[in-house]
Order: sequence, then C-alpha cells, then structure tokens
Amino acid sequence: RAKEKGRNNFQFFTAELNALITERVELENKLRRALERQQFSLHYQPRVDMRTRRITGAEALIRWHISDEEATPPSRFIPVAEEIGLIVPIGKWVLRAACAQNKAWQDAGLPPFVVSVNVSVRQFRQDNLVQTIAEVLRETGLEARYLEVELTESAVMHDADQFIAMLGELNDLGVQIALDDFGTGYSSLSYLKRFPVDRLKVDRSFVQDIGHDHDDATIVRTIIALGHNLGLKVVAEGVETEQQIDFLRANDCDELQGYYFGRPLPGEEFRRAFLG
Ligand code: C2E
Ligand code: MG
Ligand code: MG
Ligand code: MG
Repeated sequence: RAKEKGRNNFQFFTAELNALITERVELENKLRRALERQQFSLHYQPRVDMRTRRITGAEALIRWHISDEEATPPSRFIPVAEEIGLIVPIGKWVLRAACAQNKAWQDAGLPPFVVSVNVSVRQFRQDNLVQTIAEVLRETGLEARYLEVELTESAVMHDADQFIAMLGELNDLGVQIALDDFGTGYSSLSYLKRFPVDRLKVDRSFVQDIGHDHDDATIVRTIIALGHNLGLKVVAEGVETEQQIDFLRANDCDELQGYYFGRPLPGEEFRRAFLG
C-alpha cells in the first residue's frame, strides 16, 4: 500500500514538474518574442523632496502586456530574463526608452528631473554597461545628470572591486547612482565608503512597519544616519501613510517615494498627474 502510494506521489510529482517546466519554457519563449512585439512599456513613479514635496525624480518601472487584460509583474519575468541573459537587450531598451521620455519632457518645457532606471547585475556583467549608457545618452540627447541607475547592494557587493571601477566610470560620465532595496542585502561598510554612490533607497519592507515595529524604526533611523554620514541622500521607498511620513520627517529623510505620492503610471498619465 505504502509502495503504491509512493508511486502515486511520484507520478503526481512528475506530472506537476512537467507542467512547471512547460510553463517555464513557454514563459521563456514569450519573453524572447516580447521585445520585437513591442509588448514592454514603462511606468513612472514620482520621487519627491521631503520638505518641498516637489518632484526630484521618477523611477521607470517595466511593464509587460501579453494581451489587453494580462500583465505579468516584473517580479515574475525579470528573474527569468536575468537567467536566460535576455535582461541585456531588455535593459538596453528600458534605458533608451526612459532617457528618450525624460528628454521629451524637458523639450516640452517641463521642469527637469532625474529619471531612475533599474539595472540588474547581469547587465553589469554581460554588457559593456558604461559604453551602452554613454551611447544611449548621446542618441537621446539627455544630459547625464538627469539619469540615475539603481543597483541592488548585493549586485554591487558580488564583485566589489570590479564594480567600484565601473561605478567610478559611470560617475565620471555624470550619471547618478542609487543603491536600491538598501538594508535587505549585505553591504560591507568599508566598501560602501568607496562607492561613488549618490543615494540610498531604504527598502519598502522596513518603511512599511516603522509606525509599530521598533526594530524596523531603528533600522530606518540607522540607514538615514549612515547615508548622511557618508554624504548621501536617503530615499524612503514604499511610503503609503502620513504616519510613515511623520517618522521620516522627524528622522530627516531626504526624499520619499510610494503610493502616498503616486502609483507608477504610463508616461502620458504621469505627465498629466504630476507635471501639470
Ligand atoms: P524596485 O526597483 O524596488 O521598485 C519598487 C517597487 O515597489 C515597484 O514594483 C513599485 O511599483 C513598488 N511600489 C512603489 N511604491 C509602493 C508602495 O507604496 N507600496 C507598495 N506595496 N509597493 C510600492 P514593480 O514595478 O512591481 O517592480 C518590482 C521590481 O522589479 C523592482 O523593484 C525592480 O527590482 C524590478 N524592476 C522593475 N522594472 C525593472 C527594469 O526595468 N529593469 C530591471 N532590471 N528591474 C526592474
Ligand atoms: Mg528600483
Ligand atoms: Mg556622482
Ligand atoms: Mg526597491
């Protein structure tokens, strides 16, 4: 009996595994075709100065629409795109689209701000990222200081000495650099000191509970102090409530981003909602 049951379990597992593998292969194939089918778009989310509440930047966030109804979240397809190397051409598309959009807003006479683009570790390793960015800036005509790249600390720490060199080149171009999801990875403080970084983005998971979780409040306070001691701006991600804003103001956070100020929106809607 037990043997039979074991076999059934085994059959169940292989069936389920097969389904998973099929699904994964389909996702990969769809992803490979998505660029040429122009199924990607960018949404923009405002980042505001804590004191003035003015827009200091907009984060470009990729969206993938397979059909009119269906959208696949980046948390599902970005890791796959990274694994199969497709993040390199996708990332290049994102950079170009975000820079072109920001330049278009400036050309329309809107007050200039920085556009932030998420760059994954694979782009750093596979691609000549600095050259790509220089090329995109040249093609789109956007000044380097109006582009920021967001990297995760674990990406940067992975091969810190090599990255310090690349970050230095980016910094020399005049591009701004932010460490995203800060506090979730591990950072060596001695390296952090050597990074030519402009901003730390406190991860949403800490911001979420600053009102009632003593440890999270301590972490956020510590990251703000650390950033300021290193001469960096500190951004809080995922700000949703007044209570969070009160805490962040009391602790001298520089910039805020989150649903409280605005959800990510398509370019045209973003312009209407936030740029007047
Ligand atoms: P991220 O860079 O940390 O982006 C912030 C995420 O938090 C976005 O999710 C945003 O929509 C969400 N968010 C912003 N404010 C709030 C809030 O107040 N509450 C809550 N609950 N969420 C908020 P999204 O757009 O789903 O992106 C998820 C992640 O996917 C990003 O995290 C980033 O790591 C990655 N990603 C997105 N676009 C790109 C891209 O173009 N290239 C790469 N390499 N990664 C990207
Ligand atoms: Mg980001
Ligand atoms: Mg700099
Ligand atoms: Mg983040």
